[in-house]
Amino acid sequence: MFAEVLLPQKVGEKRETLTYEVPENLKAEIGQIVEVPLRNRLTKGVIFRISNEIPPYKTKPIGKIVENAPHLRLWQMELLEWLSGYYFAPLFKTLKLFLPVAFVKKKKLIADIPADLTAYSFNPKHTLNAQQKTALDKFEQTEKTVSLLHGITGSGKTEIYMHITNKYLLQNKQVLLLVPEISLTPQTLTHFSGHFGQQAAVIHSQLTTKQKQKAWMQIHSGEAKIIIGSRSALFAPFLDLGCIILDEEHDGSYKQDQSPRYNTMFVAEKIAAKLGIKILAGSATPTIETYHKAKSGEYELLELADRAPTDSAGLPDTRIVDLREEIKKKNFSIFSDLLRDRMEQRLGAGEQVIMFLNRRGAASAVICRECGYISKCEPCGVPMTYHNRYTVENSVYHAEKLICHHCGRIEKVPHLCPNCQSAFIRYIGVGTQRIEDEINKIDPNIRTLRADRDTTGKKDAFKTIYEAFLKREADVLIGTQMIAFGLHMPGVNLVGIVLADMGLMIPNFRSAEKTFQIITQVAGRAGREKVSGEVIIQTYLPDHYAIRYAAAHDYSGFYEEEIKIRKSLGYPPFNKLIKVTLADISNKKCQDNAMDLFNELKDLNKEETHSLTYYPALIPKLKNRYRWHVLISGPEPENLLKKSLKLQGAIIDVDPLSTV
Ligand SMILES: [Zn+2]
Ligand SMILES: [Zn+2]
Repeated sequence: MFAEVLLPQKVGEKRETLTYEVPENLKAEIGQIVEVPLRNRLTKGVIFRISNEIPPYKTKPIGKIVENAPHLRLWQMELLEWLSGYYFAPLFKTLKLFLPVAFVKKKKLIADIPADLTAYSFNPKHTLNAQQKTALDKFEQTEKTVSLLHGITGSGKTEIYMHITNKYLLQNKQVLLLVPEISLTPQTLTHFSGHFGQQAAVIHSQLTTKQKQKAWMQIHSGEAKIIIGSRSALFAPFLDLGCIILDEEHDGSYKQDQSPRYNTMFVAEKIAAKLGIKILAGSATPTIETYHKAKSGEYELLELADRAPTDSAGLPDTRIVDLREEIKKKNFSIFSDLLRDRMEQRLGAGEQVIMFLNRRGAASAVICRECGYISKCEPCGVPMTYHNRYTVENSVYHAEKLICHHCGRIEKVPHLCPNCQSAFIRYIGVGTQRIEDEINKIDPNIRTLRADRDTTGKKDAFKTIYEAFLKREADVLIGTQMIAFGLHMPGVNLVGIVLADMGLMIPNFRSAEKTFQIITQVAGRAGREKVSGEVIIQTYLPDHYAIRYAAAHDYSGFYEEEIKIRKSLGYPPFNKLIKVTLADISNKKCQDNAMDLFNELKDLNKEETHSLTYYPALIPKLKNRYRWHVLISGPEPENLLKKSLKLQGAIIDVDPLSTV
């Protein structure tokens, strides 16, 4: 008997597995972790296939079956093969997801998180209100695999998760609770362990090898009943999984940003189908794709419309400030008169303030500060991006240009607004440092803290900033995305969104959705204690639907507008996308390769069922290499791409979050 063994490392150009002989006395099964000889060393791998056919070359025997290892289950082996094919990822890289134990590099922990578990105890001290009860009943009765729990911040989604978890535990089943990476902070864990008793298995990418191995074994044996984890927990060797709960379904960390670039919800659905179990996905601001499936009946839709009474001073009072009016008043500061007044008042009353900047990436568009006109690429429906230098072939030109990061079109920067002829048309961009400087100009005694990528390079740096702010060591917290997350900041009743438009400048089909989500999430930070909160949104685009609906706390209004646009431009959920990224030290070569791939795909696309474009990446040069994208859009882009012979070295992103 012979076994094909898959190793978590590259074994050759053409082949993905190595064949070994199975010794007589060894009881080999698919999914077993075995030790095999490779280049005079012993290494661990997984039995991928078993066959009786004698291979036409010499084989060595398998060393031994590794005891005390979380062997892969059959459904996991099937999932592994599917993942590798669908996401164009080599099997050896995909295998690493399932075998984090022996192969994960040692990393530092965020904090001391107990990976231990002993007895599990659950204390259902919370009773559900009427709307929570209805949602729970619908979840239990539905025949559909996925239920979407759509509830505004503070409507009590967590209570429903707890009740569902308890039901499955009573049946002696395991429950997987998936949360975004960033929420695995000690604060969240304390909250969960308060309900779940002291111990549950917690899985995230920063566990040490030893901690992960221990947790993996406890999940494999069924000793761990509740598994709380970020996306990587999907690949744990569950003994008897009853249900998957996916919290904050819209969060970007559910998409892995390296190969295999999988989407957590999609993989969870595959697992649920294999195991015949249910998924509950929850969010106040679900992705458009997920909500579309819920509206069209593919998913069960559970709505929680009201804030739970224990957690409310009602929704925050939200006001939009039109920055075009400030320009007319000759106020060139980044703070409107209203935001400045409210900040001074709140600080004067001894409260704290959050200043939020929706800064994602480096993109900036050209906007008219008098009328709000944005330079857009009409066919693509996305803002064109301002560049003060650009590259054609291998020459760099220092000149202002607008580039469409969707189709590659290059245009001149307008010096007069095509809409109102104003000369106040220019690119905009503000950083957290600039906000800090302006606050210091208003009053140097205001104590500020900044939380952005620069100040929180290390994960525990954010924890330090957050704790300092909680202890009132600062008056104003200035931050980007990371402060939008569900952190509890009781001293804050005013949130200023300094420039809400910044996210809309990203030339990506998802930028309105992301902007709506982030404004809604940030607004949820204001006034969650007894005092009612206040949110001020500063914008040059007060009529933009993402901003209007976010200010009105109206998700379904936003959805209705957004889905129309997605449909008319053929974006997801109406088409599927694959983004291929090519990189080269020569821009000319990179562009040529992108064009070659584009032409090859065009020939393969005989019936023209798919649309194709190629264009420079939004960040055209990264780590000294130029980057171009080829985008395929249509019903089955993967089938087209599978026929390509020009993918050597390409990065393939199936169902990408961003096209730039
Ligand atoms: Zn204008
Ligand atoms: Zn375009």
